[in-house]
Amino acid sequence: MDASDAADAVLPDAPLQTPVPPAPLQGSVVKEPSLLPAITATATIVAASPLQADDVGFVDDDEDLPLPPLPRPRRAALRAESCIAIKTILAIIGVVLIITHLAILPGSLSAASRAVCLAVTYAEVAVALLCLERILRGDPGTIKRTPATTRPMPRRVADALRRYPTADAVVGCGNNVVDPVLGSYCVRCCVWRPPRSKAHHCSQCQRCVVDFDHHCGFYGRCIAGGRTSGNVPFFFAIIATGYAAFFSTLVFLILALSSFDDPG
Ligand SMILES: [Zn+2]
Ligand SMILES: [Zn+2]
Repeated sequence: MDASDAADAVLPDAPLQTPVPPAPLQGSVVKEPSLLPAITATATIVAASPLQADDVGFVDDDEDLPLPPLPRPRRAALRAESCIAIKTILAIIGVVLIITHLAILPGSLSAASRAVCLAVTYAEVAVALLCLERILRGDPGTIKRTPATTRPMPRRVADALRRYPTADAVVGCGNNVVDPVLGSYCVRCCVWRPPRSKAHHCSQCQRCVVDFDHHCGFYGRCIAGGRTSGNVPFFFAIIATGYAAFFSTLVFLILALSSFDDPG
C-alpha cells in the first residue's frame, strides 16, 4: 500500500478529531504551485535514503515494462517549413552572388578589391550553408530513450501502461511527474528530463529537448542548446551572416558605383 492508498483508507472513516493533513506524495503531479514546497521537502528527505519503490512511487527496474512508441511528430508540416527555409536562403544567396559578381565586373574595381569582394562573399555563403545544414540535420538536444533516462519509471505511469498495454501512448496517467532529484518525467516521451535543464516537450516535434529556446516555424526545428551545444549557435550565426552579407554586398555595390563615377 502506498501513501495515497493509506491516506484514502484513513481519512473517510476517521472520527471527528483534529484534522490530519494528507501525506505528501513522492513523485506525484504538481497541480498546485502552493503544494511544491511540501512535496520538495518530502522528496529531498526520501532521496537522501536508499530509494524504496513502494515508498517513493517508482517501480523496480527489474519490471521491464515495454514502452509505447514515441509520439509522432507533424512530419509533413515540419518538412514543408524546412523546404521554405531552404528555398528562401538559397534565393538570398543567389541574389547576393549576382550582385557581387555584377559589382566586380572588370573595370569597376581593382583586381585586389575584386578578390577581396569574392573571398568575403563566398565565405559568407559557406557559413550560411553550414549553419543551415546544422540547423536542419543537427540534434538540438533531444532526450533519447536510454536506461539512464527512462528509469526509474514512476508507478503511476507503470500502472497506466499495464492498464492499456496495446495503446500507442501512455493513457490516463495525468500530467508529468516531478522529482527534485531526478527532474521531471515526460509522460509522452517516457523519459526523465534533467532538473534545471530548461527541458521542454515540443508539441510540433513531439520530443523532449534540453535547453529549449523555441520551436522555429521557419526551419521546422526546435532551437535549443547553449553557447557550444545544440543548434542555438548556428541559429544566431546564420542570422549574423545574413546581416553581414547584406552590408558587405551593399558596400561592394557602392564601391563599384563610385568607381564608375570616378573620372580617374
Ligand atoms: Zn516529451
Ligand atoms: Zn520543435
